Amino acid sequence: MRNTFLVCAIAVLALGLGNAGPAAAQAKPGVERLYILNCGEGVAGDQRDMSPGVNEGKSMDFVDNCYLIKHAQGWFLWDTGLADAIAAMPEGQRPADPRMTHWKRSKTLASQLEQLGLKPADIKFVAVSHSHPDHIGNVTMFPQSTLLVQKAEYDWPAPLGPRFKPEQPVNKLEGDHDVFGDGSIVILSTPGHTPGHQSLLVKLPKTGALLLSGDAVHFKENWDNRRVPSNNDSKDKSVASMQRMADVMAKEHAQLWINHDKALRDTQKLSPQFYE
Ligand SMILES: [Zn+2]
Repeated sequence: MRNTFLVCAIAVLALGLGNAGPAAAQAKPGVERLYILNCGEGVAGDQRDMSPGVNEGKSMDFVDNCYLIKHAQGWFLWDTGLADAIAAMPEGQRPADPRMTHWKRSKTLASQLEQLGLKPADIKFVAVSHSHPDHIGNVTMFPQSTLLVQKAEYDWPAPLGPRFKPEQPVNKLEGDHDVFGDGSIVILSTPGHTPGHQSLLVKLPKTGALLLSGDAVHFKENWDNRRVPSNNDSKDKSVASMQRMADVMAKEHAQLWINHDKALRDTQKLSPQFYE
């Protein structure tokens, strides 16, 4: 009787120690939370370049998002938005061609990081969907972060805006990339809009799987009808990438979050609120 009690007591003690051991003290693996940062708003003068043959001559409202993700192994930023300098322009940035988008910024990226208690140096990885100015506008704010970009995009002699600095640490990708090796943040190669365009699959603990589009699609109606903007780099690759995204969404039961879709963002929580 006495021995049985002792054995039980030791077993309970061992269990208790097991629960409080180093494994339990560690942070949960994978993604903890995702913030949508307001990285701009704009009005395209004419929808014709976005969806040829549809709503030509009509203007269209757009938004521009950055997505900040807290992973157990570090902070990850997806896209850097329009340059923060645009926030100081009273009328925003007017395009040379009135058919293009007139962008404004109501808040800077820097101020939104600061609100969360973060400095640019706290961001371990900065990945960009592609190198158009409304996605890489603040990439130089993160000289210590490792840039994750497709080699095809890095080497592309794009005609627009600021590009990458040679001193920036960079991992030039050639295809898909599992950022932390646990499947929770996976870059997917989705060329077409630009030669090295990429999208992002994120697995959140409560919200579930999300596919962040980049500019593989600009708004839901174009997605539903598989429409390709006239100024994309390759129409065939654009269509193939949308099909690939649809396949991934079906397999992963993922929601599609379209970066520039204003109607979608109007329904979403913006930083400092977050998704788990
Ligand atoms: Zn673009």
